[in-house]
Amino acid sequence: MEPDVILAAREAELEAELAELTRLPAEIGSISFGKRVGEGTSMAVDRLAAVSTQEALLAMLTEVRRARQLVVEGTYGVCEVCGEPIPEGRLEARPWATRCVKDG
Ligand SMILES: [Zn+2]
Repeated sequence: MEPDVILAAREAELEAELAELTRLPAEIGSISFGKRVGEGTSMAVDRLAAVSTQEALLAMLTEVRRARQLVVEGTYGVCEVCGEPIPEGRLEARPWATRCVKDG
């Protein structure tokens, strides 16, 4: 499969996950209102977890978009830092990798 096809699919997947996450806090907020303190605390923890998940997803989305940009520029698969080709195995594991293992 073409890298851009894989990356486009990954980007859509991440956007869907983010949309799902941003939908959740509003619901948690309305449910937690008026509940016991203990429940409110666990919901606050859930929300924190959602925020860190969201940050991780956003970071990955940024990487995926960057990698797609490199496809357009014709430098996909080449390390941004040292200019060496990124090993195929790494690209299979992380198609959005823009750096080699050494510089990653
Ligand atoms: Zn490198």
